[in-house]
Amino acid sequence: MASHSAINELYNSSKLIPCVFPLFLIVILLLSISSADSSTHISDGPKNDLFPEILRDEAVARIYELGKVSDGHGYLERTFLSPASIRAGNLIRTWMEDAGLTTWVDGLGNVHGRVQPPNASNKALLIGSHLDTVVDAGMFDGTLGIISAISALKVLNVTGRSRHLQHPVEVIAFSDEEGVRFQSTFLGSAALAGVLPASTLQVPDKSGLTVQNVLKENLIDTTEENLSQIKYEPESVLGYVEVHIEQGPVLESIGLPLAVVKGIAGQTRLKLTVRGSQGHAGTVPMSMRQDPMVAAAELIVLLESLCKHPQDFISSNGHCNAFSIESLSGSLVCTVGEISTWPSASNVIPGQVSFTIDIRTIDDIGREAIIYELSNQMHRICDGRSVSCFLDRKHDADAVNCDGGLNSQLKSAAYTALKRMAGEDIGDVPVLMSGAGHDAMAMSHLTKVGMLFVRCRGGISHSPEEHVLEDDVWAAGLAIQAFLETNL
Ligand SMILES: [Zn+2]
Repeated sequence: MASHSAINELYNSSKLIPCVFPLFLIVILLLSISSADSSTHISDGPKNDLFPEILRDEAVARIYELGKVSDGHGYLERTFLSPASIRAGNLIRTWMEDAGLTTWVDGLGNVHGRVQPPNASNKALLIGSHLDTVVDAGMFDGTLGIISAISALKVLNVTGRSRHLQHPVEVIAFSDEEGVRFQSTFLGSAALAGVLPASTLQVPDKSGLTVQNVLKENLIDTTEENLSQIKYEPESVLGYVEVHIEQGPVLESIGLPLAVVKGIAGQTRLKLTVRGSQGHAGTVPMSMRQDPMVAAAELIVLLESLCKHPQDFISSNGHCNAFSIESLSGSLVCTVGEISTWPSASNVIPGQVSFTIDIRTIDDIGREAIIYELSNQMHRICDGRSVSCFLDRKHDADAVNCDGGLNSQLKSAAYTALKRMAGEDIGDVPVLMSGAGHDAMAMSHLTKVGMLFVRCRGGISHSPEEHVLEDDVWAAGLAIQAFLETNL
C-alpha cells in the first residue's frame, strides 16, 4: 500500500518536470463534480484492502513479461498474428483463466476472457485494449489496458465478488490496433463492432500474405461469408471501457495518475502537391523562378498559423459557430510529417514538392472549416507564386465522444481509487481529450464507450522509453475494480 507521503513524493517529483507543452494540450481540463458525488458509491474500506500484490506487483510483472514477447531481437515488435503475438495471446489467456475467466479466440485472433455470474443479465460489459505493438515499441501501450482489466477481475474473483455482478464482464485483447502489418488499423475491434469491410481479408502484407492467409496459417478459417459471425449484437453489450496510457504529457504535468477521456479526436490526412518549373540552380534568376519548394515552405508555415490561431482565420467567415471555435482552439493539432521533392538534387530548382498534412480535433465541423480555409489560402499563395497546387484527401475519421454516463462512473471510480491510495482527498480527476486513435473508436460503432488515461513518463509512447510508474499501474487496476464493484 502506498503511504500518504509516498504518494505525495510521487506527485511532487512529477511537478519538477518543466511544463513545456503548449496550452492547447491541456485540452479539456474540466474540473468538476467528482469529489462531491463519487465518494458516496464505495466505502473507503480498510486500507489493507487495496490488493497491491495483484493490482500492482503481479500486474507490473506481467506487463514486463509481455514486454519481452517480441518478434524482434533487442526491441519489442508484435504485429497481427505474428509468432510473438500468438505467444502473447496464449500468455494472456493463461492469466485470464487464472482470474477465473472462460477464454476463447475469435475469428480475427482477438483473445476473449469472460466472467458469467449466475443470475446476471445478458448484456455484457466489455473491457479491452490491443496486444499488438508498433516496431520498437514501449511495453505499456495496449498491454496496460488488458492487464489492469484482468487484475481487477482477479481481485473480484478471489474476494468472491464476481459471483454477485449483475452483468457478465468480458476482457478482450484485440489482435490489431496499430495496423503495422497490413496498414489497416483496428482489424480486431472493427470486426467485433461489425464495421470491418469484408474486402480487408484480401489485403496483403509486405510478403504477399493476405489477412485471410495469415488467419488460416493460425488455423482460423475466416472468410468473407462468415466474417459477420465475429460481430457482436448491440443488444448483447452494456458498453465498452478501455484503459490506456495517455501517450501525452498532460497528466504528468498536473501530477495525477488518472484522467477520464472526453473523446477521441477526428482526423484527416491530406497530401499537398506543388508543381513548379524545374531548372538550373545557377542560371535561373530569382525573379524568374516558379519554385515549388518555397511555395511549400510558405504553405507549411500557413498551416501552423491556421492551427495555432484558428479564430484569426475562420471566426469571421461564417463557417464555424462559436462552439466550434472554442473546441477547435482547445484541441486542434496539425502536423507535416513527411515531405518529398523531385528530383531532389542540390543544384536543381525542384519541379515538384509533396508533403503530408495530418489534422486532428474533437470538432468535426471545425476540421472541415480548417480544410476549407487551408484550400482557399493555398490557392492564393500558389497563384501568387505561379505554381500549381493540388490537395488530395487520403483519410478521414470522425471524432468519437465518450459516453457521459460511463465517463462519470469512471471518474467516480478513479477518484475513489486515488483517494484510497493517498489516504485523503486528492482533488478532481481531470478530463482530457485523446489525440491518438484507440480501439474505443471502432467499438463506438457497436456500443457506448468510456476511457481512462494513465500517466506515462514524459508523455513518451511508441518508444522503448515508454514508462508507467508501478503505483500508477496499481491505480488503474484499482479504478477498474471500483468501477465494476460500483456499477455492475
Ligand atoms: Zn495503443
